Amino acid sequence: MEKFYLTTTLPYVNAEPHMGHTLEFIQADIIVRYMRKKLGNENVFFNVGADENGSKIYNKAIEINKTPQDFVDIYSNKLKEFCSYFNISYDNFYRTSNESHIKVVQEFWKRSLNNGDIYKKKYEGLYCVGCESFKIEKDLVNGKCPDHDKEPIFYSEENYFFKLSKYREKLLKYIDNNKSFIIPSAKELELKNFVKDMDDISISRLKINLPWGVDVLNDPSQVVYVWFDALSNYIGAIGFPDDLNYEYADNMYQICGPDNLRFQGGIWQGMLMSAGFKNSKSIVVHGMILGPDGVKMSKTLGNVVSPFEQLDKYGYEAIRFYIASSFGFMDSPYKEDDLVNIYNSLLADNFGNLLNRVIHLSNAKEVNINDFDNVEDNFKIKVDEVFIDAGVHFENFRIMEAVKLINELATFGNVYIQENKPWEKDKAKEDVQKVLNNLSYLLYSVSDLYEAIIPESAKKAKEALKNREKIILFKKII
Ligand SMILES: [Zn+2]
Repeated sequence: MEKFYLTTTLPYVNAEPHMGHTLEFIQADIIVRYMRKKLGNENVFFNVGADENGSKIYNKAIEINKTPQDFVDIYSNKLKEFCSYFNISYDNFYRTSNESHIKVVQEFWKRSLNNGDIYKKKYEGLYCVGCESFKIEKDLVNGKCPDHDKEPIFYSEENYFFKLSKYREKLLKYIDNNKSFIIPSAKELELKNFVKDMDDISISRLKINLPWGVDVLNDPSQVVYVWFDALSNYIGAIGFPDDLNYEYADNMYQICGPDNLRFQGGIWQGMLMSAGFKNSKSIVVHGMILGPDGVKMSKTLGNVVSPFEQLDKYGYEAIRFYIASSFGFMDSPYKEDDLVNIYNSLLADNFGNLLNRVIHLSNAKEVNINDFDNVEDNFKIKVDEVFIDAGVHFENFRIMEAVKLINELATFGNVYIQENKPWEKDKAKEDVQKVLNNLSYLLYSVSDLYEAIIPESAKKAKEALKNREKIILFKKII
């Protein structure tokens, strides 16, 4: 049986969850829900979680008089709550401050070490605490890190390095030979350019400079650097080291934002090869969710959309549906008008309206529906074709295209009912039944496909159809 393991990136929990998380978590959840239906729950695994180590978190905790553990507990819980608000059906919520994570990181380290990929070297340079990375002069503006408006500090320490350069050629080959490794393929070139220049990277810090993290194996004076630490969660989530599910390890799919491509697609892939794992099957790079003005959301510009406010206003399914229908691999602005229009036209007017009509007419005309063995052949072929095609879009992470097809199917149903007029008085009962029964099959299929996106409403639609119960599922948003 085919296995499917999907993981999001782990947000760094030093602030409230934002729209970017909403997008990534919802897209991942939609794919996972579809795949569970296709492969069975027991063959799908979905990991999300929180990245909780590092000096940024340590410093912020100290600043507000909390222990780092208390601090990450608060923000991790917020992220968990956030997932429940949007009905994110994860199988595992990974926390890198968990005791069990120490073993994951150290065993991963051991594998790389045994493979000759970890060595010690003196490192000197300018270091920005905000970025948690070394800077060179050309990265700075007026001597300051442009992202943090702070002067970097001079660091000189002996650290452990990971031989990432060793995996350049192998990874380039893997990218070339696996055309679905990077989705969308438009991102492939960017990744290849990064991989071509991959140098060895420092993967530890002196504990006196980074007290909040995982100790380096057999060297407690050093702490594993956040990236090496956090990335290993993807394999820890599926049982490494004690109880690794190899089938999931061999079928790992990852979703991330454009700024994470080099970490998931480059560094992590090198780490996987070093530790003797297969590379990820696909790295899916979603677009950015921009402010309504089409510019990256920022507090200074005042164009930040709060997911919590949106939730209060529209409920989680309207937001999930909007994201599914309008956000793919390109950066796109979040516009409330669009959310409302799409909800009203696709769900209330198109799908919802057809559902109401078919249920109402089947009751009024006293005919049987939901007799799926007796759907007319041509009609069934048409519906099944769309069903399969939409499924292929889901499987290939093209959620927007899937929504488009499902909506077209609902439109086809509305045209069909208009043409066949089952409400007309002189229509033979037999014909009315045929038309409405055909449509009940279409509606069931539409509900089933939409279930990955709007799980609650889609289930209600199926129930209503089955019981021929009159409900208004999608009230128009005014
Ligand atoms: Zn910085």
